[in-house]
Amino acid sequence: MADCIFCKIAAKETQARVIREDDDLVAFYDLNPQAPTHVLIVPKKHIPSLSGACRQDIELLGKLQYAAREIASELGIAEAFRLVLNNGRKAGQSVDHIHYHLMGGRRLMWPPG
Ligand code: 5GP
Ligand code: ZN
Repeated sequence: MADCIFCKIAAKETQARVIREDDDLVAFYDLNPQAPTHVLIVPKKHIPSLSGACRQDIELLGKLQYAAREIASELGIAEAFRLVLNNGRKAGQSVDHIHYHLMGGRRLMWPPG
């Protein structure tokens, strides 16, 4: 999708510190990390938000979560990490292309702000 920063990263039109890529997804370090480890896990398909996902996306959504689990192991945070999906502006979503935040490496408080 034109003018979508995560589509551009997936298409390699914009640089990012990519740590994983396959046919379905790309994972890269967040530009503005909120934890010592902060990775974004993004489907190559442009889905604006979880509210914009459809039943055909169920397998893809599962792949994103499983990638998070594997990346957490690879990066040494498997014991304690948080997987966050902000849905909608009021929930903190600023990029309208669905993505999980994988965060770890520090004590993560609950509830989040
Ligand atoms: P949201 O606020 O939508 O849940 O998360 C968007 C995230 O994308 C933010 O944490 C922000 O720092 C990150 N981000 C925005 N633009 C870029 C970019 O061009 N490159 C990278 N690596 N991260 C970005
Ligand atoms: Zn997009």
